[in-house]
Amino acid sequence: MVTVVIGAGIIGTTIAHDLQKRGRQVVLVDRDAPGKGASFGNMASIAVTEFMPASRPSVWKQIPGWMLDPEGPVRVRPSYMLKLVPWFLRFIAASRPSRLRALEDQGAALCARSLEDTQALLADCGLSDQISDEGCLSLYANEAEFKADRDHIEILERFDIPHEVLGRQAIKALEPELSDKIGMAVLFPKNRSMKDPYKLVLALADRFTALGGRIERGEVTGFVRSDRIREVVLKDGRKLPADEVVICAGAFSARLSRLLDEPIPLETERGYHTQIMAPGISMKHSIIWPARAFMVTPTAGGIRVGGTVEMAGLDAPPDYRRSKITVKRAKEALPNLKCEDFTEWMGHRPALPDTIPILSASARTKGLFYATGHGHLGLTYAATTARLMRELITGAKPSVDLTPYRVNRF
Ligand SMILES: Cc1cc2nc3c(=O)[nH]c(=O)nc-3n(C[C@H](O)[C@H](O)[C@H](O)COP(=O)(O)OP(=O)(O)OC[C@H]3O[C@@H](n4cnc5c(N)ncnc54)[C@H](O)[C@@H]3O)c2cc1C
Repeated sequence: MVTVVIGAGIIGTTIAHDLQKRGRQVVLVDRDAPGKGASFGNMASIAVTEFMPASRPSVWKQIPGWMLDPEGPVRVRPSYMLKLVPWFLRFIAASRPSRLRALEDQGAALCARSLEDTQALLADCGLSDQISDEGCLSLYANEAEFKADRDHIEILERFDIPHEVLGRQAIKALEPELSDKIGMAVLFPKNRSMKDPYKLVLALADRFTALGGRIERGEVTGFVRSDRIREVVLKDGRKLPADEVVICAGAFSARLSRLLDEPIPLETERGYHTQIMAPGISMKHSIIWPARAFMVTPTAGGIRVGGTVEMAGLDAPPDYRRSKITVKRAKEALPNLKCEDFTEWMGHRPALPDTIPILSASARTKGLFYATGHGHLGLTYAATTARLMRELITGAKPSVDLTPYRVNRF
């Protein structure tokens, strides 16, 4: 049995490693070297508190205002607005109260084990030192900002996710570099961060090949099917025989799903980071400031500042003004932050309109599977995704009911 996994980001690499370890013969295909997609430069957070749908009213009601603000956290390029309409209508449909409740349950079900699954994967690979011991601080300037984020905290209470409300003194004791502007914070002790998410993909890819897995460089442009999947066709004409295929091509999975007559409404939520090599400060916790929509993570290579959502499709060039806005905001929280020696990066979050990923067998083609659409939480969900996909592919009983994550739910 040969399983071809398409896409060597964190999702494909983790799945390929897991299946190979359990005795499957796996070929991992990517047009690029492993880990050069969204998994390269994400904010490195195992964010078990961030599963709530973006379509909840407290978020989407702010979207019109954000769109009018050139520095707002969500930007739709005017040339892309019309193309986005079908996705946006599905996004609004996911905001019905009954649907929201179900989506919260489904996000929470994946987050429930994601830290433990990640820690177990890291331990298995000898990489336990790659994850932080400290959690994440969610910042609020004042009581009004805290109240505006109340629905987030209420959802955490509903799912019994640990969190602790802190006042100014306690915040300063944990992170002395934070500005006095920050009047309140909530500590999420189970949100941890990786030292370098790219190195994690590389380490998994190395381990995968050491276990006998094969990595093929090539762009997938087609498939050969009969009553089931047979071959994966590459742009250079090569054909890879496959008993099973798993589509994990991140935001590009929609293009492949169209080739398989099973279109999925996947968009790219483009996000940016600024990696500051000599920030002039040191931090232990990652921070998010919901009202300013940015995140800062201490990483192995300095401090990483990121966030924002830009809807502009897969092909438009990056607009690094977006990264400069997040750095400006980060300086409000961290007044001593220096930003002189830095690099900027843009990546494509694979975003489905209802926020939960597709973890599914194809509804049309035997032997074909999808693990995509992890949105803002691909790193968080990767280890759990690998376990669930292994259960699905090998015919074991999935430890989470996968019906809500099916490919044909739209
Ligand atoms: C700014 C930013 C911050 C983020 N922060 C976090 C965070 O803190 N925590 C978190 O959990 N998540 C975060 N995310 C989300 C996370 O990075 C993604 O969900 C995750 O990386 C998706 O992984 P993937 O493997 O599905 O996709 P990718 O990493 O994009 O990998 C897809 C791969 O498929 C390959 N591919 C595509 N098409 C083809 C083809 N036709 N043939 C061959 N290969 C192909 C690509 O080359 C690529 O290597 C963030 C994302 C961004 C952009």
